[in-house]
Amino acid sequence: RTVYLNGDWLPETEAKVSVFDRGFLFADAIYEVTAVIGGKLIDYAGHGARLRRSLEELAIPCPLSQEALLAVHREIVRRNALEEGLIYLQISRGVADRDFAFPKGAEPTLVLFTQAKPVLDNPRTKTGLSIATMPDWRWERRDIKTVQLLYPSMAKMEAMRRGADDAWLVEDGFVTEGSAATAHIVTKDGVLVTRPLSNAILHGITRASILDLARAEGIAVDERPFTVAQAKEAAEAFITSATNFAMPVVSIDEAPIGSGRPGPIAARLRDLYIADRLATAL
Ligand code: PLP
Repeated sequence: RTVYLNGDWLPETEAKVSVFDRGFLFADAIYEVTAVIGGKLIDYAGHGARLRRSLEELAIPCPLSQEALLAVHREIVRRNALEEGLIYLQISRGVADRDFAFPKGAEPTLVLFTQAKPVLDNPRTKTGLSIATMPDWRWERRDIKTVQLLYPSMAKMEAMRRGADDAWLVEDGFVTEGSAATAHIVTKDGVLVTRPLSNAILHGITRASILDLARAEGIAVDERPFTVAQAKEAAEAFITSATNFAMPVVSIDEAPIGSGRPGPIAARLRDLYIADRLATAL
């Protein structure tokens, strides 16, 4: 693969970052993941906007203009002849002698790489995901997309240890979100219930698009927190994220959701999302 590092295009084996990079030492970095289908960027405007917000919240200067960042995204797709998969972008505060205080005048480290993988014909859409629930022990600024991913990583490992595919995290009795995705349910009355935006969850770009599409379809949307018990009582459950689009959940802590098979509303929203976002892909 050809990767991007601070203005250079390099073979992946030659792209090197300092051991003093604050991304490495402090997880002092943010990231974004954008899906690519047919060589085009899906929902890029949202990812670009959230990237700038994450940087602002951490007072990390954005190393490139909006236009230049989009151009780099397009160029990495071209250089890797990427048809389908994702672009990972990370910006750290940069390199400085180790100190908890933010360094003055550090140059941010900007890295992009691609991962080719089939995201459209994901076999999981046919089977759905099994979910295990566990406490949300992350910090309280989950609205900032930082690379502090150790706990979500541990949560996924624990879910897999229990024989599930992934984790949903729970705080004060309510589901916050998945290890790397937004959590949603559809009640037996057909209402799409999803947690409202706050610092407790990442403001999912796919979530925003899916809620718009659901409302346009006449599906009632209720943005309120829900419990694990309510999720187990639901007709359907699903997750959304940049590379999963909408992906059905068929069991939670071994209890089947609805029929125990992928639900029709999640499937409909997935199809609508892909069609709609492909039409506006960059
Ligand atoms: N929540 C968390 C914790 C995530 O890591 C992600 C994405 O990876 C999401 C939600 C979904 O966000 P998006 O739809 O912008 O990919």
